[in-house]
Amino acid sequence: MPAQLISGTALSQQIRADVAARAAALTARGTRPGLAVILVGDDPASAVYVRNKVKACAEAGFHSVLEQFDATLPEADLLARIAALNADPAIHGILVQMPLPKHIQPQKVIETIADSKDVDGFSVHSAGALASGLPGFRACTPYGCLKLIESTGVDLRGKHAVVIGRSNTVGKPMALLLLQANATVTVCHSATPDLAVHTRQADVVVAAVGRRNTVTADMVKPGAIVIDVGMNRNEAGKLCGDVDFDGVREVAGWITPVPGGVGPMTITMLLVNTLESAERVTI
Ligand code: NAP
Repeated sequence: MPAQLISGTALSQQIRADVAARAAALTARGTRPGLAVILVGDDPASAVYVRNKVKACAEAGFHSVLEQFDATLPEADLLARIAALNADPAIHGILVQMPLPKHIQPQKVIETIADSKDVDGFSVHSAGALASGLPGFRACTPYGCLKLIESTGVDLRGKHAVVIGRSNTVGKPMALLLLQANATVTVCHSATPDLAVHTRQADVVVAAVGRRNTVTADMVKPGAIVIDVGMNRNEAGKLCGDVDFDGVREVAGWITPVPGGVGPMTITMLLVNTLESAERVTI
């Protein structure tokens, strides 16, 4: 029997409806959740991501500001702008779209965002809170993956999860979230000699590599949950993930499609983080 599809589009709609209701309640009490999105330069993909984030804010009833700057913006000016947004009570979350132009140090920019407004969850403070099991903003993409896994109803306690990829924004926080959910976690990366040895034992596979066909049907345990974070293009220019979807869906128990899987969840969890930031200052 082919795997059940885990639809990020459908789960996003459910979560966003809840977010919009909570935002309306908060606004009625005098606090409208507010997100500031900063774009430096004219990268076309970044412009699309930023537009989608601002649109999602509007649909959820949030206040949002989009600040666009020329690629030549001095780093000091960007840091000053962030400092001003840190002090703005109408703003509960600040997101600086990556990548930044080469003359700007991304980590310096991230660390300038107030801990209470780091809704992307990329700062050392947020990463440390996650590693220590303390409350804090969770990075949106892995947080969305966790929600997709939870939506299957499978209890992660005692399950073996294999994360492929160890980036600070996806792989590492994903592994920590799964650990916190009581899974036994293996993290694989480019120096892992035999990926299949690990994935074949996994009840859950999260692929976050950025390379097509990294996970094929022969690498998957029957019935496993397979979450595909990858965003790649095939020869025809069509969007595809890291997982050979057609092959793996014949073996897995659950699988996310690309598009329509992890992608929509990333913006959804950004809304959740921003809402919770606003709720925190209101309580
Ligand atoms: P990244 O920073 O490039 O990290 C890729 C990871 O994959 C690295 O840890 C790398 O290992 C590992 N890797 C590379 N080749 C491998 C191999 N042959 N076997 C095992 N591991 C291998 O990428 P990222 O930012 O984490 O993103 C990963 C993918 O997810 C990309 O396609 C990206 O576009 C996509 N993405 C999607 C969303 C979304 O919203 N849908 C959000 C974020 C990212 P090393 O550490 O050893 O180099």
